[in-house]
Amino acid sequence: VTSGDNNLCFSRINELQGSVGTITRPTLILDAGRTKLNIACMIRRAADAGVRFRPHFKTHQSAAVGEWFRHAGVSCITVSSLEMARYFADTGWDDITVAFPVNLRQMDLINQLAGQIRLGLLVDHPEALTFLAKHLEHQATIWIKVDAGYGRTGVDWQDQRLASGLARQIAASDRMQFGGLLSHSGHSYSADRLDQLQQIHDESITRLRRLGDQIAAKDLGTCPISIGDTPTCSRVDRLGDADEIRPGNFVFYDLMQLAHGICRREEISLALACPIVCKYPSRNEIVICGGAIHLSKESLTATDGRRCFGQLAQWNPEGFTVSETAPPLTSLSQEHGVVSLPAEQQAQLQIGDLVLVIPVHSCLTAQQFGSYTTLQGKQLERFRP
Ligand code: PLP
Repeated sequence: VTSGDNNLCFSRINELQGSVGTITRPTLILDAGRTKLNIACMIRRAADAGVRFRPHFKTHQSAAVGEWFRHAGVSCITVSSLEMARYFADTGWDDITVAFPVNLRQMDLINQLAGQIRLGLLVDHPEALTFLAKHLEHQATIWIKVDAGYGRTGVDWQDQRLASGLARQIAASDRMQFGGLLSHSGHSYSADRLDQLQQIHDESITRLRRLGDQIAAKDLGTCPISIGDTPTCSRVDRLGDADEIRPGNFVFYDLMQLAHGICRREEISLALACPIVCKYPSRNEIVICGGAIHLSKESLTATDGRRCFGQLAQWNPEGFTVSETAPPLTSLSQEHGVVSLPAEQQAQLQIGDLVLVIPVHSCLTAQQFGSYTTLQGKQLERFRP
């Protein structure tokens, strides 16, 4: 597609189709084929483990990408806001968990959605349940959010008294149906090795099961466990110790997942096309139109100690990939991205060419845009709050 010696250049490919050929500003480029493979792979992992798959749609936030999940057999989803739940409910999803602590100031929207779909909500405090019991107009599924070690939100996994009290409050309301215990082990992102990741998973499950057994025996019949983070769901053994999984990032993956050994290079399916605006051969750097407002300030530390805010992808006939030695973005300001690129490689690029940047964190990068452009040049809309 491109001449082999210039495979950093995205804009000179011969087969630019549809709107890919008219890119003028930073634009999300999606490899649809790879995304579908990532979806199929996670569906298989969930099926092999015998767990319900409730993918988190906050990563892609697109009705069109949602259809790829639906065609693959997925029927229930996770989102991170009630507005996002509204967007997907309007495209036919009727079993949605909002995996964010319930915002009681949105009771009207909660009631609207609860009257239309099977709506799941998260609580970790009796005050929230008292309010819901009084104001819910329809049935909702209530999950007790548990902190199994991450330290962000949720009932502490050792606080059996609080969890039991919440379970009893739920059982006492005819508008609330108990979903189970729901946890997000975001600390899995700090694991450097697979055995550490496995340990975090096993520890979280043991804690959740112990708490679940305690409250189920005393207050309820059964206590399903829902977990969800891409490192765990992509790599660990014994995924089936949970009842439900809710990974999101796996749909695109990114440099962070690659750096942690969670995905392979050829599984990353999202990149940002950015115009080159300056070349500085004397300092081995180019500057692209693509900064913190497009990529976020999320960074990794490279082996040479420098911060890395993204890496340039290589273009090949099948799509894009990122090599171990791919040029890194070493600094970002609001709209500028500085790329470390040797002068000889710069000679093959022109100001105005497009390069593809693999983001450090695909969820935050995708969040900045209103649509995706596939490699075939098709536009896919995203939810805009
Ligand atoms: N569940 C909850 C509650 C989350 O907050 C997140 C992500 O932040 C996920 C699931 C999905 O995790 P990941 O982004 O690692 O796929």
